[in-house]
Parts: sequence; C-alpha cells; structure tokens
Amino acid sequence: MDKLENKKRIGILGGTFDPIHVGHLVLAEKAKAELDLDKVIFIPAHIPPHKTRDDIIDVELRYAMVEAAVSDNESFITSRIEIEKKDISYTIETVQALQQKFPESEFWLIVGSDAQLYDWKNVDELFKICRFAVAKRPQFKIDEFPADTAFIDGAFLNVSSTQIRGLIKRGESVANMLPEKVYQFIKEHSLYV
Ligand code: ATP
Repeated sequence: MDKLENKKRIGILGGTFDPIHVGHLVLAEKAKAELDLDKVIFIPAHIPPHKTRDDIIDVELRYAMVEAAVSDNESFITSRIEIEKKDISYTIETVQALQQKFPESEFWLIVGSDAQLYDWKNVDELFKICRFAVAKRPQFKIDEFPADTAFIDGAFLNVSSTQIRGLIKRGESVANMLPEKVYQFIKEHSLYV
C-alpha cells in the first residue's frame, strides 16, 4: 500500500473474489486505460454486506488468490484494509480510510453495473467523495449511478465466480476463466471441489 504514495488517480476494485477471475482483471485493465489510472487497488472483502452465501471460503485464501492474480502487473496492488477491520466492510468506510491516508489522490470506484447501490451504506456520501467507473452488464440498469459516472464499454466478460465454483464442483474445465497462478492455487488447495 505504501506504493500509493504520490499517486494521483487510484482505482478501487472491491469484491468477494471467491475466486478472482479474468473478468475482474479485464475490468481493472480497461478502467485503468480509459481513466488513465496510476494504480488499481484490489480489496477483498472480509464479510461482504451484500452476500448471504455461508460457504464463502476463508478470506486468507481469497486474498492469496488476489495476490497471485496481480503479481505480474506493476499497476495492480492488493489491500488488506477490509480484512484487518475484521467486521462488515462498507465501501464508504473503506474509501474514507483510503482518502485519509492519501489525501492528494483522486479515487475511482470500479464496479459492475450489477452493483445494487440502493443497498449500500451512505451511498450519497460515497457519490461526493469518489467517482464511479462502471462496467455495463447486460440486463442491469445504470440509472442509479451519478451523472459524472464513467461507463466503460466492453468491460464485462461473461464469467463469474459463481459459474467457476459450479464448474469446478462438476469437474469441468475453468482454466480459461482464471489467471494461470490462480488456477494452480485452486488445484493445489483443492478449492471448490
Ligand atoms: P459471484 O459470482 O460470487 O457473485 P462475481 O464474479 O460477481 O462473484 P465479485 O467478487 O462479487 O465477483 O465482483 C467484484 C466486482 O467485479 C463487482 O463490482 C462485479 O460487478 C465485478 N465483476 C464481477 N464479474 C465481472 C465480469 N465478468 N466482468 C466485469 N466485472 C465483473
């Protein structure tokens, strides 16, 4: 995280990352290119407020996969900010904490348009303190986002963590949906079987 010092335009990509997949990486790449971001921070959620699934794998395993996924990309870094909080992670609190730490930076929150903003804590405050970079997902509305939102075309690949977990359980191939290191990690640790 100290690598953020003096960086001006920062993207934040939070998620459950159970597991992280190529869709997340393409989203981050496209947001970085389109918005000329200096860095994108990947922030695995400790207890995601919107997810009710009770079989989310241990956060340290999810974090290790995120680390593996970004290790070859200088512009991508990971953060344990929500893990260390050891409580429900609200985006507003995460962004406020980052802003305090890096007051010179401008933060862009990167999300898919499946984000259900009406459910988010203090979303109006969030609109004031950061900008949104949104990957349009077919069939999901975009009218909840503020007027200054940057919509990123072609940033939503047809892949999801749910789909990947299901395929692994059924013994089907997922190699092309995951970064190689994440694929190997899942095999080594026999995850999602
Ligand atoms: P799950 O299937 O378990 O709900 P997911 O694949 O949607 O997981 P998350 O970790 O919930 O992954 O997603 C983190 C962020 O990445 C969210 O903002 C989500 O909209 C976005 N995202 C997820 N999948 C894609 C994708 N295929 N392309 C672009 N963005 C994605």
